[in-house]
Amino acid sequence: MNLSTPTEEIQRIGSVYAKRLKKLGIEKVRDLLFHFPSRYEDYSKITSIANVNPDDFVTIQGKIVHISERNSFKRNLKIIEAVIEDETDTIKAVWFNQSYVKNRLDTNSPVLLAGKVTHGKDGIYLSNPASEVVRLDSVPIHTGRIVPIYPETRGVTSRWLRYIIYKLLPLAENIEDPMPEEILKAHDLLPLKDALYTIHFPANMEIAQKAKRRFEFEQLFYVQLSALKTKLDLQKENSPKIKTEVELTKKFVKSLPFTLTDSQKKASWQILKDMERKVPMNRMLEGDVGSGKTIVAALAALNVAKAGFQTALMAPTEILAEQHFKSLSELFKNQDIQIALFTRSHQKTTIHEKKLTKETIKKEIATGAVDLIIGTHTLAQENVKFKNLGLVVIDEQHRFGVSYRAALAKKTGQSSSAKASARHGKSSPIPHLLSMTATPIPRSLALTIYGDLDISLLKEMPEGRKEIITKIVPPSKRNEAYKLIQKELDVGRQAFCIFPLIEVSEKLEAKAAKEEYEKLSSGPFKNYNVGLLHGKIKAKEKEEIMRDMKEGKIDLLVATSVVEVGIDIPNATIMMVDGAERFGLAQLHQFRGRVGRDKHQSYCFLLTESNTDSTAKRLQALTKAKNGFELAEYDLKFRGAGDLYGVRQSGMPDIAMASLSNMELIEETRDSANKILEKDGDLKKWTVLKEIVEEMQKTMHFE
Ligand code: ADP
Ligand code: MG
Repeated sequence: MNLSTPTEEIQRIGSVYAKRLKKLGIEKVRDLLFHFPSRYEDYSKITSIANVNPDDFVTIQGKIVHISERNSFKRNLKIIEAVIEDETDTIKAVWFNQSYVKNRLDTNSPVLLAGKVTHGKDGIYLSNPASEVVRLDSVPIHTGRIVPIYPETRGVTSRWLRYIIYKLLPLAENIEDPMPEEILKAHDLLPLKDALYTIHFPANMEIAQKAKRRFEFEQLFYVQLSALKTKLDLQKENSPKIKTEVELTKKFVKSLPFTLTDSQKKASWQILKDMERKVPMNRMLEGDVGSGKTIVAALAALNVAKAGFQTALMAPTEILAEQHFKSLSELFKNQDIQIALFTRSHQKTTIHEKKLTKETIKKEIATGAVDLIIGTHTLAQENVKFKNLGLVVIDEQHRFGVSYRAALAKKTGQSSSAKASARHGKSSPIPHLLSMTATPIPRSLALTIYGDLDISLLKEMPEGRKEIITKIVPPSKRNEAYKLIQKELDVGRQAFCIFPLIEVSEKLEAKAAKEEYEKLSSGPFKNYNVGLLHGKIKAKEKEEIMRDMKEGKIDLLVATSVVEVGIDIPNATIMMVDGAERFGLAQLHQFRGRVGRDKHQSYCFLLTESNTDSTAKRLQALTKAKNGFELAEYDLKFRGAGDLYGVRQSGMPDIAMASLSNMELIEETRDSANKILEKDGDLKKWTVLKEIVEEMQKTMHFE
């Protein structure tokens, strides 16, 4: 038997138990050893029977002087009664419907019992205590000590797990500790073997805590190493050096109808500096909806074009791509920069008036006739050849599915094969990468799953934005909210109504969406044009509905949260979110950012049926916070990392995920990972570690 032996082949397990264990994600011996307790019961203190008091939880040690089983007059109730004696006194123990206890315990057995002291009509007794026979040749594992309580499943009890795991623990001897010894020493961490024994069967609570910390440290350390190594690997690649045209850029910025915010200036500067190096940029530009990310990307594209290279700008939807094409064509009209739009249904360039075929436009991209190519997924799918791609910008990067991001990375050259060729010394240049997102990234994530990239943050909104009036709407005020919306629609404004995604299935989601739509369109909004958008609607139709909304043909758009309304609709002044308590604050903030784009006063209504204090408090935070960033931190604190966008999808190990609120540990592990990589960037000395990291680089999605 070894660590990879399937559970089925372990003595006393067999196929029935193996199946049950699978529900806990346990398939091999190794998994059992790493099935950690969720908590402990402290049965370590032994009380003399004479000192036992009613209602106490106690552990006693003694000898069984009598044990018998009887049927209660009540239906089907089997009762086992025993009398236990120690040097000080005797006490009764009673078990209900636990016949197996009789097989375990005999008269004269030396036993440990742990349980609650109950007061009955014949005096006190121990009710359903945990029991264990004391043997000379073994230590107790179920009583008389700190006892592990495990995540259980039907038919798999903690007692059973304890028994099995205890037997398997000697196999831990065969596991090599992947953690470098110097790190264990420097951070006072238990070696793997000790930590494994200890986390299951600790001698005291302090040492249990220490064992737990070792595993938390370890998992976060791997995440850090993987992120930082991904970053380091990228440094071996080549990208074109883009010289910043300082004068031209200044002049261009001066010509804008607005002045840049400080954050915009800073971010642009960081990006331009990055691109001047021949090391590929991998930067994320993060800023609330409406904070002005596009102009920052435009400044980068301008310099790339002037340096003689191309930029590809990828948007998640056709409408967004069109919107970019329109606004950037306008922005660059005096710059001698040619722009192309390449989506599934639209292909055009600023060179010609007419619509082009895909083939012609591909040719213009390949010959370098166009400098800036704006497109959607299609750009990655179709075999578009660039003349000399210098920069890839991914707008709303969180909207590109994880697998898509990988495909894009490949397209832009950042694939493992490109890395391999780099190792062989014949790397071809890859473009710089700028991703943009409105999803706020708390510091803990910036230093873990986003740890491989540099981040620029747009902290403030452009001046002159009106505050959006945000109101929490309880059921009793619902009609009032509807009335206000009607009033807005009557003067020509538009509104969104978002409600939560029903996770069960797309079909159910579509059904729920339709019901909501029907309720609103035949009820309070029957005199208005109401549109419906949900996940089951085909991409092409979605685009059409969004277009109708943009053109004002729809007054009220009902949408599930899967459908992010990522486009500019300045005429929309109301964002209503139904079931608001079910969203993260950062996400609500993003919804809210969809309105308030124009001179009109805008509103955000948070409809909620929940009237708990915590909901109220949480939603209140939304009425106060200045940016999505603050709210993401709030979400992290009150709902945990799992609820933050992208964390679950990232593939981060559970233990590491649970430690994301521990900023100190995050920093400590990051420092350690840096130290190891400084010494040995390829992890040549650490073979096991290297395997773990490479596996993690494959399975985890660093952004
Ligand atoms: P997002 O960050 O959501 O992509 P956009 O780039 O679409 O935001 O910008 C939103 C709007 O704000 C655009 O109309 C843009 O022209 C405008 N804008 C950008 N920067 C500024 C600024 N510094 N001052 C005023 N308006 C700005
Ligand atoms: Mg944008």
